[in-house]
Amino acid sequence: MRIHPSLIGFDIDGVVADTMEAFIRIAASDYGTIVLPEQITEFQVEDCLDMAPETVAEIFARLLEEPIACGLQMMPYARKVLSEFSWQAPLTFITARPQKKPIARWLKRELGPQVYGQVRLIATGEHDSKAEHIRKMGLAVFVDDRAQTCLQLAREEGISPIVYRQPWNRGRHALPEVESWLGIRRLCFA
Ligand SMILES: [Mg+2]
Repeated sequence: MRIHPSLIGFDIDGVVADTMEAFIRIAASDYGTIVLPEQITEFQVEDCLDMAPETVAEIFARLLEEPIACGLQMMPYARKVLSEFSWQAPLTFITARPQKKPIARWLKRELGPQVYGQVRLIATGEHDSKAEHIRKMGLAVFVDDRAQTCLQLAREEGISPIVYRQPWNRGRHALPEVESWLGIRRLCFA
């Protein structure tokens, strides 16, 4: 069964944005701490890394406030697949980030003004209210990398979560998952 692009929405960090790459790069360049992707086995990274919680908080604050200056990148193929989806439907992003403006600017820059013209972006400021926004936006499927969010969405009627596979969600759910944007594309197009 194919999902029409108008029915699918996306989390940003860890799904559209390669937030882990930026975190690891900044930890190495600015704090001299080497982190390997497979070491990030917890969504709360301070719980699995030998790093001061203040340092982790500082890096995440920078990623939230100035994603462009941090060199935050899109996941492989995200731009291409999102552009393709935008020909058929609006693109809906629901992030738990507290501030909308910095990530809106980043999205506009990454997608280009034409595709960005199709973007609906919601910054909830918290993880647990995504279901109501997913409903409000008329979505049926939501892609997120946080296992807890996906498990919560799975209990909601009419919402099918899909886990974007990352080291911190491995083995924490039995829900459908994708491992790349090519996988997301296959959900919608043959
Ligand atoms: Mg995320």
